[in-house]
Amino acid sequence: MKCLGKVTVTLKVTVTFILLSSCTALGGVNPTPVIADLAATQEEVQFEAPQTPTPEPFRLTLPTPGAEPVSGWRPPLYPVPWAMSPYDHFYFARPIAANQVNWPLADYRYGGIFFAPNIVHTGVDIPAPDGTPIMAAGPGTVIWTDWGLFRETPGDVTDPYGLAVVVRHDFGYKDQQLYTVYAHMSRITAVEGAHVQTGDLLGFVGATGATTGPHLHFEVRFPTNSFHHTYNPELWIAPPQGWGVLVGRVTDTKGVALQQLQIAVRSEENGITRIVKTYGGGAINPDPYYNENVVLGDLPAGLYKLTLHYVDEKNPIKEKDRQTWVEIYPGQVTYFTFTGNDGFDISRPLAPTLDFLPVPVSTVTPTP
Ligand SMILES: [Zn+2]
Repeated sequence: MKCLGKVTVTLKVTVTFILLSSCTALGGVNPTPVIADLAATQEEVQFEAPQTPTPEPFRLTLPTPGAEPVSGWRPPLYPVPWAMSPYDHFYFARPIAANQVNWPLADYRYGGIFFAPNIVHTGVDIPAPDGTPIMAAGPGTVIWTDWGLFRETPGDVTDPYGLAVVVRHDFGYKDQQLYTVYAHMSRITAVEGAHVQTGDLLGFVGATGATTGPHLHFEVRFPTNSFHHTYNPELWIAPPQGWGVLVGRVTDTKGVALQQLQIAVRSEENGITRIVKTYGGGAINPDPYYNENVVLGDLPAGLYKLTLHYVDEKNPIKEKDRQTWVEIYPGQVTYFTFTGNDGFDISRPLAPTLDFLPVPVSTVTPTP
């Protein structure tokens, strides 16, 4: 089933549309011990967006949910915090147990724009049946257990997050407080003010708030527990063992981020192609280190060919499809940039030194 969540909120004078959840729940998908990758058959539906306050007309692509290759199986996850290199910061476990689908829905990633302009996805959606246990992604203190998270109005049953839990973690990131958010729950068992450990039960999957089907909407926030301070959870949840994460910054020749650009990621080992798009605009943030605008998590280690279509209008060259090859390493981020006619570069940003190690909570300033 398809679930779409959106709400119109008046903030000061401008009108902002918020998408909190948009997913197809993979109901009935059970993990099996057999890798069952499906061939990619991505269909797209084009339609005109409704009238909105945005100054420019907008055309968007609604991907057909579930068309991207999806494996019915993943290896066990790396223990957290996991950082094989100083470049990575996989601090969090997944909030759904490893014996179920616990990975983000491929077609509804962070930064995606699916249904209308200015509705950007600020988290990832993990499809799970109603009543599936939701677990704390890391140790911390429960600071919210109610309706009303988006407007910070406890008890507001019209809030798009529905019943939600927020955990303020015991560790920070570069001296900044980390939070995780769990939304659309059917029932909350966590108690506000209580301390939880990784894997402790917070409540159960539901379909409360702006959604029409059960799933978990999961966010990572810092340095404040605010809708405008989310970051891509796929950079923070530990990958399955032997798998890695592709992270990129894709811009035009002048360095301006290209939005909603489709990139094909083809495994040279088995030919399976995954499609990922660069972030849209809106209330999303790139990682302070990677400065990325595209992330594709849960990739088995190996060699992949990246293909994207780019035309520099002022300086067109013949070949419009640009390609490069990247190696995905187990338990690590593989980084690339694309800069218009300057093409691909697979060198990493400068090493971030020890800033990436989790720091005790006593050295960070808690914020509400
Ligand atoms: Zn969501």
